[in-house]
Amino acid sequence: MSKYKHLMKKAALIRRDIVDIVYRSSAGHIGGSLSETDILVALYYEVMRIDPENPGWADRDRFILSKGHSIDAYYCVLADRGFFDRKELLTYSQFGSKLIGHPNRQIPGVEMNTGALGHGLSIGVGMALAAKMDKKDYRVFVLMGDGELAEGSVWEAAMAASNYRLDNLVAIIDRNGLQISGKTEEVMAIEPLGEKWKSFGWNVSVIDGHDFSSICSALSEDRKVRNMPSLVIAETVKGKGISFMENEPKWHHGVMTPEEYKKACEELDRLLEVL
Ligand SMILES: [Mg+2]
Repeated sequence: MSKYKHLMKKAALIRRDIVDIVYRSSAGHIGGSLSETDILVALYYEVMRIDPENPGWADRDRFILSKGHSIDAYYCVLADRGFFDRKELLTYSQFGSKLIGHPNRQIPGVEMNTGALGHGLSIGVGMALAAKMDKKDYRVFVLMGDGELAEGSVWEAAMAASNYRLDNLVAIIDRNGLQISGKTEEVMAIEPLGEKWKSFGWNVSVIDGHDFSSICSALSEDRKVRNMPSLVIAETVKGKGISFMENEPKWHHGVMTPEEYKKACEELDRLLEVL
């Protein structure tokens, strides 16, 4: 019996919520949301020091969703974790809702407006530097897409993080191998990825981004190397958990037909029965 069965079950429930809000709103970025779900569940239910009752707590760990378009998973996790009422999920992407298509700071728990790709890591560097200056021990986590790495600003931030020896900064790459227009290695090749980050002065690990034991261990405080920022390359599957969406670029922001919605729900319900 996996020590992390409760997280596996939580992730399946979050995926069920994602499928619901995307279908209901006919909007969203479901492929990248499903690939990052396990990472978010590990962060918000196991790894990060947070208090949903007090989202502005000065000593909280910070999280930035730099791949801001993959909002569906983020909203579902924040709601389930108690940052806002789950009922608000029903308003997702509707006129007048706070829950718009990219993260914004009106939403409790969201640290930064993101979505213009390539900005999150620079913001994370600033937050991690602020922690050092204020002699605080909070950590800063930044989740980026692999397609996002084509943005030059990511590499400026990578250089600055090691210059300032930000060992309280953890960048995570949702390495699903796809971006909006196809395979990352065909659009703008990023391999050898780990070597690139090592040469920028980062402590690099490569993990299975759907295995909770690996995710929790890679993100834990005791895996920190002093005086170096950490990078976790989480190998994931875009569309993870729904058979017909997995590794299909069209599900970057695809919308389900009623038949597809039914099939997606059935697959997740079957998984939940086993868990
Ligand atoms: Mg990707």
